[in-house]
Amino acid sequence: MQTNLADFIRDTPQGQEADSILRACVHCGFCNATCPTYQLLGDELDGPRGRIYQIKSVLEGAPVTAETRDHLDRCLTCRSCESTCPSGVQYGRLVDIGREVVEAKVPRSFPARALRWLLRQVLPHPARFAFLLGLGRLFRPLLPGVLKDAVPVARPAGRWPEPRHARRIVIAGGCVQPALAPDIDSAAARVCDAIGISAEAVSIGCCGAVSYHLNAQAEGLNTARIAIDRLCAALDAGAEGIVVSASGCASFVAEYAHHLASDPAYAEKAAQVTAALIDLTTLLSREAAAFDRALARSPAKPEAIAFHSPCTLQHGMKNKGNVERLLTVAGFRTTVVADSHLCCGSAGTYSILQPALSATLKANKLAALEAGAPSRIATANIGCLTHLAGGANRPVEHWIELIAERLGV
Ligand code: SF4
Ligand code: SF4
Repeated sequence: MQTNLADFIRDTPQGQEADSILRACVHCGFCNATCPTYQLLGDELDGPRGRIYQIKSVLEGAPVTAETRDHLDRCLTCRSCESTCPSGVQYGRLVDIGREVVEAKVPRSFPARALRWLLRQVLPHPARFAFLLGLGRLFRPLLPGVLKDAVPVARPAGRWPEPRHARRIVIAGGCVQPALAPDIDSAAARVCDAIGISAEAVSIGCCGAVSYHLNAQAEGLNTARIAIDRLCAALDAGAEGIVVSASGCASFVAEYAHHLASDPAYAEKAAQVTAALIDLTTLLSREAAAFDRALARSPAKPEAIAFHSPCTLQHGMKNKGNVERLLTVAGFRTTVVADSHLCCGSAGTYSILQPALSATLKANKLAALEAGAPSRIATANIGCLTHLAGGANRPVEHWIELIAERLGV
């Protein structure tokens, strides 16, 4: 695609990155076929090709309107379009750049700004979030149905094994998961322990994704710098890698090196953290012999599981089919899930900011997941888990909890 970016952005790092992404797009429109918002709304401007065109116009200096901002807001940043694109267009990076420019040019109304500010004051702060969640749980019995579904029930924390192995790994605790489902990281720690690696819990506060994806990019990167300092300290003390069990956070940590490449104080440390990130599926595959020995110690229980692969896992980190394969190795039967490439509608704060579209996507996803009559639903991201659990007719869990249960740990 020919481009002619305007003076205000042409020679900036963002402008140069956007220019190379835009030039890779051949405008074929294949991506529209797998875009959830295009499927629901049928509007070219609510599909990836239309959004790319709108961002191009903005960066070339065309007038920006609130409608442009709305079309970009309705994008889930699920990156399904990236998985489909034959030209390798990095849409996720382009939409980040486009949103930042549009946000600056078309200010939001006061209530919209206040809601986004409030989300940034609560979600990335574990103590504040835990306090408000506790209040919600206290008054849950008094809430009407829809609101009641939005307040997840408490889950026990689970046992964290004592360190006993020479090999050590970090499990990074994020912002909302420790309060919503503390048992996920402890299950991951027990699985690591069972394959000969001790896990150390390191609280990073928040990875930075919440603010970054609410168009407060500088704030998000400052939060990321705090996480990087904590993770680098653990790596320097001898940990061999970093596990982030929530795929939404992991996919942002995987981008630290890119986002902070031009920061002289953090470029090297960000690259160190990104390089040390290891997905749980990769870890179990790499330690296959130890995993097999651990599996052999307890009998398999055949059970049908529907796996929802989060967008951040399958499109963001291009990690597709590995969880299903490991569940099968562990003796579970994974059911067929139609349209497994489509987003469930959780998408960070999307379920709060775009409730109608999010609810439709959730209903469609639950119908697809439950069609195979699984006994449980598994996923890999706390956002998807909480979103789907508020409406599912069966338990929704992180897949590593199923593995821990299967290992009897
Ligand atoms: S992003 Fe890729 S699939 Fe979509 S129009 Fe451009 S080249 Fe085609
Ligand atoms: S990121 Fe998802 S919602 Fe946004 S344009 Fe791409 S496929 Fe559509």
